[in-house]
Amino acid sequence: MNRAQLFARLAEPRAWDLAVVGGGATGLGVALDAAARGLSVVLLESHDFASGTSSRSTKLLHGGVRYLAQGNLSLVREALHERSTVLRNAPHLASRLSFIMPSYAWWQTPFYGVGLKLYDLLAGRAGLGATSFLGRAQTLAALPNLQPAGLCGGVSYWDGQFDDARLALALARTAAREGALLLNYCAVTQLQHQGGRVTGLRCEDRLSKQAYTVRARCVVNATGVWVDALRQLDGAAQGRSVGPVVAPSQGVHVVVDRDFLPGEHALLVPRTADGRVLFAVPWLGKLVLGTTDTPRSDLPREPRPLRAELDFILGEAARYLARPPTRTDVKSIWVGLRPLVRPAGDDDADTGRLSREHTVLVSATGLVTVTGGKWTTYRAMAEDVLARCFQAGLLPEKPAGVSDRLKLVGAEPTLDASRPAVAAAAGLHTYGSEQALLQSLPGAGLLLVPGLDEAMVRFAARYEYALTVEDVLARRSRLLFLDAALAASLAPRVAAILAEETGRDPALADFLGLARDYLSWPSEQDA
Ligand SMILES: Cc1cc2nc3c(=O)[nH]c(=O)nc-3n(C[C@H](O)[C@H](O)[C@H](O)COP(=O)(O)OP(=O)(O)OC[C@H]3O[C@@H](n4cnc5c(N)ncnc54)[C@H](O)[C@@H]3O)c2cc1C
Repeated sequence: MNRAQLFARLAEPRAWDLAVVGGGATGLGVALDAAARGLSVVLLESHDFASGTSSRSTKLLHGGVRYLAQGNLSLVREALHERSTVLRNAPHLASRLSFIMPSYAWWQTPFYGVGLKLYDLLAGRAGLGATSFLGRAQTLAALPNLQPAGLCGGVSYWDGQFDDARLALALARTAAREGALLLNYCAVTQLQHQGGRVTGLRCEDRLSKQAYTVRARCVVNATGVWVDALRQLDGAAQGRSVGPVVAPSQGVHVVVDRDFLPGEHALLVPRTADGRVLFAVPWLGKLVLGTTDTPRSDLPREPRPLRAELDFILGEAARYLARPPTRTDVKSIWVGLRPLVRPAGDDDADTGRLSREHTVLVSATGLVTVTGGKWTTYRAMAEDVLARCFQAGLLPEKPAGVSDRLKLVGAEPTLDASRPAVAAAAGLHTYGSEQALLQSLPGAGLLLVPGLDEAMVRFAARYEYALTVEDVLARRSRLLFLDAALAASLAPRVAAILAEETGRDPALADFLGLARDYLSWPSEQDA
């Protein structure tokens, strides 16, 4: 269906069971679960799918070693279960990855090793491989550029990693396959109430500026760090003031070439100089360094890093890598906002200690808000949200457990053991069972850069809801996140193909500005 047909469906005079606001991991997960259970679902996303936090994560499918240290075992166990669900249902977009924690003091190997053995135990049958203790020489062989001075040994363990934006698109497309209607660039501008209850919403196609009314039995607010705006609209309609539930925290990632950490392993520093966790993770052929946890009071669409955050990441990398990257080695910098759940009445909470678990709230009018949590647990969160909708009598009850074994669009029926892992450079393999369809399109094999050909741009426009150069180069391909200068250099050609496919302005100039931002270094004043 093209965009005009999708909007024609939206304009039909009907009531939906469920209207989901927000097309990130959380909203897409809810839409898919509900549609798979036979409910009628519409999902509206104000920008592009996953353009908020859900394309800016560290890309780990993990139980959370940090939460293990905090003793939050049920959170860890649930996430470990969900980690294997994603690996099973989207094997073309997720794979297991070995992590090594180096030890620079004699006690670190047994201390972290015992914790990670517990991690294996909690994973049970969902385990991806056994934790093992490494000697000094083994650690250096596995992480060739690791700082050798003072190194005692290390611990290796297994977790998962994925392509977050492409998984979001797979969720969107699978939800559509299950009958849901999903629209990007369509912002929810108002909620509608009748007799004190939410009965629907108003939304606007951001391209045509046309407004639509959508009637729904149940409205779920899954707008991530932005949930408070919709909650306030809901409260204002009832003459109530509504306090914020989100305390946003910013996380920065820096991307450099793989030769700063060659080999097949990721590096995890469990306790940096200021007590944080730092990852150096091979991803799509590059190395991702991060992240930070800096409280913010505003909610920009494109948050930018502080100078202190970049100094922290490169400074810590220099403590652990014998030949460390410097500013001139940085290929891209991206920043995401975590929707941390604020304890009621706590305005100055330290975000490092706020809950990474999700919260589901049902307002007096029946608006259901979900926020917090993490990518890894999107499916468990969706089940939780729907359980609350049933409990509140907002939706007719449908049994859970459908999404558990639901293969996402692109997943092959049998596992392809020869497929490159997510750590390897992107390419045809990322398209899983859709490779033949992709190769039947014009431009197949006409490479723009290794791993991205012209047919992939056409595929993005025809099947993956892409409208702009940014949609293609930031989220269908991840080139903006991997090498912003390279992405800018091929943007004009991508724009030309997109314009041919969609007949619309693909916003090339906006993308070129964005690519500059992904490479720009904040001044000393932005500390
Ligand atoms: C730095 C960082 C690293 C992370 N690393 C990991 C990790 O490695 N593993 C992991 O499991 N989790 C990780 N997370 C957490 C994970 O990324 C988030 O929990 C998850 O992406 C949140 O998804 P969401 O759908 O709730 O929010 P979002 O992805 O932000 O989605 C909300 C959407 O709502 C839309 N929206 C807002 N207002 C409206 C409106 N009025 N109308 C329509 N749409 C609207 C927005 O455009 C947005 O797309 C990380 C988070 C950060 C910040």
